[in-house]
Amino acid sequence: MTENRKYAFNWNLLGNLEEGRPNLGNQTRLEVYRLMQFCFRDILEQKFGSDEADRIFYDAGYLAGSQFYSNVIGNPLDLDDFVRKLQSALKELGIGVLRVEEADLPNGRLVLTVSEDLDCSGLPELSYEICTYDEGFIAALLESFSGTKFNVKEIDCWCTGDRTCRFLALAAGSENNP
Ligand SMILES: [Zn+2]
Repeated sequence: MTENRKYAFNWNLLGNLEEGRPNLGNQTRLEVYRLMQFCFRDILEQKFGSDEADRIFYDAGYLAGSQFYSNVIGNPLDLDDFVRKLQSALKELGIGVLRVEEADLPNGRLVLTVSEDLDCSGLPELSYEICTYDEGFIAALLESFSGTKFNVKEIDCWCTGDRTCRFLALAAGSENNP
């Protein structure tokens, strides 16, 4: 499915908002974003099942994360610089408030939290973590920075009763990662 692609992503698809939205600008209401995201999720699940819908969301988040890294984060000097740049970009764009709880890059283990998360903060309680897109997004950011592949799993979420989303990132092939 790589030939004759109609929708291959590139950063220019985000458009020239100064020209295109002279009055409304680059802001919209978060409800609109969530409306689209949760309707996408509903239809993907109906067509492909829950597991595949989750994989699609993870993969889309991963694509977004790698594009975000190269277009927004740039070339950080070291881990501290990377975290600082990421924190300020996520905050400035209203994506969430990032904190690093653990960062053991040599052993391939990080624990990150995102508060006031774009995707889930304020949602009703559910019996499962929901930020699959964020998992892929974070995996791509960590991989872009470190050159190592990471698997990211959300272990606490607003939806499971926590007031922050917590993500465990393990380098593929690390001891902790089966
Ligand atoms: Zn969450």
